[in-house]
Order: sequence, then structure tokens, then C-alpha cells
Amino acid sequence: MHFKPILKDFLALFFPRICPACESEVLNDESITICLTCMMELPTFDIDQFDNASNVVTNKFHGKVKVSNGTALYRYNKNARIQRLMHKIKYKEGQNIGMYLGRIFGNSVHQLSWSQDIDMIIPVPLHPKKLRIRGFNQAEKIAVGLSETMYKPINIEILQRSIFTETQTRKSRIQRWKNVQDVFEVREDKILELQGKHVLFLDDIITTGATMESGIKALLEAGASEVSVATLALAE
Ligand SMILES: [Zn+2]
Repeated sequence: MHFKPILKDFLALFFPRICPACESEVLNDESITICLTCMMELPTFDIDQFDNASNVVTNKFHGKVKVSNGTALYRYNKNARIQRLMHKIKYKEGQNIGMYLGRIFGNSVHQLSWSQDIDMIIPVPLHPKKLRIRGFNQAEKIAVGLSETMYKPINIEILQRSIFTETQTRKSRIQRWKNVQDVFEVREDKILELQGKHVLFLDDIITTGATMESGIKALLEAGASEVSVATLALAE
């Protein structure tokens, strides 16, 4: 009966659990990944403000591209905890942290009235070169956590980063879906799945919003009815 807790304490001697945000040892009775102090100290946005169509996230795109709704979990500022956390989710060892944060985020987003209208979550695709080096897309990991808590499907096939090869640049049908900045393209064989859909476009950090802007344009031009934006952290 007492075997399991004892085994847990015993293992903790050799494999202490470290909070990814402050790197202090996490107490055994804390069943969470991030320690309670960090949960309190992390610069979290008040979720309620994101039920207004005009907020700190949607304002980033104001006058550039139509974004229906926007939401963010953390402020990306000088706070050492958030800096460390956002850095860690980009590394192989941090994949689970990304998913974990995605679950926390998804629980919040789920409370927003407009979240019910979302048809699919699309994480911002990583450039294939970066993907080869890193081995995974951190936005995709966050999307997994979001999907579990929002009960919405993820689609990682519709939107792609444009890869320029000579054969591709000659194909006008692929170019049709390229936006002005030529960063993203919608796969022609997947375009039907996008028609009339409300997409939740997700990234780990938004700073200027330029990358996302280009992806949003590609999605809308290819037939998405609406695009809303979610970011784990936002630099104001
Ligand atoms: Zn901590």
C-alpha cells in the first residue's frame, strides 16, 4: 500500500524533478511539472480580456490582415522564468513542457465563448531546414496540449513553409496560394478541407507578428472563413 510513495521518494533521490522555469527542485507532493511558485510568478494574461475582439493579440494585426479573435497565455517580457521556459520548449528535452503548457493554455482558451466556433488548430509550420535540425516543431507540441483540452483537431498538413526549387517556381498552381511575402503555401490537395473553416492559428511566441500575418493571409486566400490567433507568449 505504501510501496508506491516510497518508491517515488527513492527515485527522487537519484532523479530529482526540476522545475523548467526556475530550475529548483520540485517537491514530491507537487504533481505538476512547473513549481507552485512559478505558477504564481509567471507573467500570465488575464484570459477574460480575450473575449473582446480588440485586444493585445488582435491589435498586432490591426490594419494588416483580418484576425477574428486572439488570445495569449503569458507576457513575453524580461521575467527570467518565462524567458527560460520559452527557451526550453525549443529543445528535444523540452517537448513535454510544450505539451504541458499547451494543456494549461487550452484550459483557458476553452473558457472563451468564441473557442466553440473553432474547427481546427493549425500550428505555424517550421521551415523544413529548421525541422531537420531541431527534430520537431515546438508549436506542434503546444498544439497537442491545446487539442486535448479544447477537443479540437490539429491539422499539420494544410499549411506549409514554401520551399523554393526550380521546378516549383515554374508551377503557377502552387504560386497561386503564395502570399506577397512568399513564406507559406496551402497544399492544393488539402485545400478542400480548409473551405469555410474557422482556423485557430497557433505559435509559441509572437513578437512583431509578421510571420503569422503571412500565414493568416495564405489561409484566408485559400478559403478559410475565419482565422483566430493563439500564442503561448506575446511580446507587447
Ligand atoms: Zn519553478
